[in-house]
Amino acid sequence: MKRAALSDLDPTTLARHLSDWGHKPGHANRILRAYYETGDSPGREAAASHRFPKELLARLEAEFTTRSSELIARQESSDGTVKLLLRLADGRTIESVLMPAFRPDRAAGCLSTQVGCAMGCDFCATAKSGFERNLTAGEILEQFLALRIEARRLGRRLQTLVFMGMGEPLLNLDSLLTAIPRIADNTLGGLGWRQITVSTVGIVPGIEALTASGLNVNLAISLHAPDDETRAGLLPPGKRHRIDDILAAADRFQATRGRPVTIQYCLLSGVNDSIEQAQALGRLLEGRRMHVNLLRYNSTGTSLRGMNYQASDDTVAEAFAQALKGEGLVVHSRRSRGPEIDAACGQLRRREATDRKPSASVPGQG
Ligand code: SF4
Repeated sequence: MKRAALSDLDPTTLARHLSDWGHKPGHANRILRAYYETGDSPGREAAASHRFPKELLARLEAEFTTRSSELIARQESSDGTVKLLLRLADGRTIESVLMPAFRPDRAAGCLSTQVGCAMGCDFCATAKSGFERNLTAGEILEQFLALRIEARRLGRRLQTLVFMGMGEPLLNLDSLLTAIPRIADNTLGGLGWRQITVSTVGIVPGIEALTASGLNVNLAISLHAPDDETRAGLLPPGKRHRIDDILAAADRFQATRGRPVTIQYCLLSGVNDSIEQAQALGRLLEGRRMHVNLLRYNSTGTSLRGMNYQASDDTVAEAFAQALKGEGLVVHSRRSRGPEIDAACGQLRRREATDRKPSASVPGQG
């Protein structure tokens, strides 16, 4: 019989199992903590320190697997970015990315929340695969564990996480809101609440739900254009969710958390990178205390609409950043990560699927 994965268990469920097996339910949190710390069998880890009865560890190993996913491919870029391809129990694949942080001993992770994506953003490789299914909370958690192990292997500590990989996180709220506390809470994953950012394409009801959840995480909005018409051409959800409504929802989130919302803006040559568009973005954000992340585009080939987007060149990107700063905004210019390793979300997955099945039409950039 197929064993369940430990990653799917919350402390309450595990405590119930322990109690049924005649052990102290109070061990549940410590067992999961040991598992989240090592990403490996809690039995082996715990046995080494004699913290749990041997019979309990044997029963745990008999009843549960440590993972429902497995690492099947890994790519490392010259800039230190590492992309992991994980195969899920049903054979589907997802990507997670580890990026070097400013400090040489730290790293940042990027997680997926869905297999594929239904949003259809025109410059995104993931969009090309369409939507397959939501990830479970356990599958999200396993990406965190895989990145934590990878970071350690590289002599780094996984310090921050952003939900900005494959999929729209706010369309998989149940799993997202279940996984985040397990990752963040000091008694479990221990990453810390403020180290986690949820990045959305701008799903207004989802932003409201995240606000109502009370989870003390950060919010990032992928805006990518200062007007609804340009935005809707790039991001189809822009037809349903207008910029004014998205920013109003972001205002409410920011008011409850007291920390600036981040506006993600991917610069595309000749599409959204003019000085007039920078000034329009400045007017939109005036008085809002939000920060702007200017992202450099990783090419994903011909888009869904047949476009061949190009990254803005350095001079244009710098002029755009200066224009925003002139409008009084806090601006961070992010360089492109790992361009030689298919670093845009979905590219490795697409390539892997193409290699296995030449006729497959699979995904790209998140
Ligand atoms: S950019 Fe994000 S939301 Fe848009 S299609 Fe890609 S994965 Fe989905």
